[in-house]
Amino acid sequence: MPIYEYQCLNCDNQFEALVFSSDETEPACSQCQSANVAKLMSAGCILNSGTAGASSDIGASAASGCRPAGGG
Ligand SMILES: [Zn+2]
Repeated sequence: MPIYEYQCLNCDNQFEALVFSSDETEPACSQCQSANVAKLMSAGCILNSGTAGASSDIGASAASGCRPAGGG
């Protein structure tokens, strides 16, 4: 099951939650139980697009922290 990261818009708490299907139902905040939460992108797949340095290392570092979607 995929784990998504959420941020509570009520108390700014960040937490992870299991998503069983592609439903639009969002989990409640683990801290204040508010349903006002936003889904975050997976932190492991974010690349440093702003820094153009060693281009040879980009492929390796990206692959190490980024898993393919839908693997299950
Ligand atoms: Zn909260």
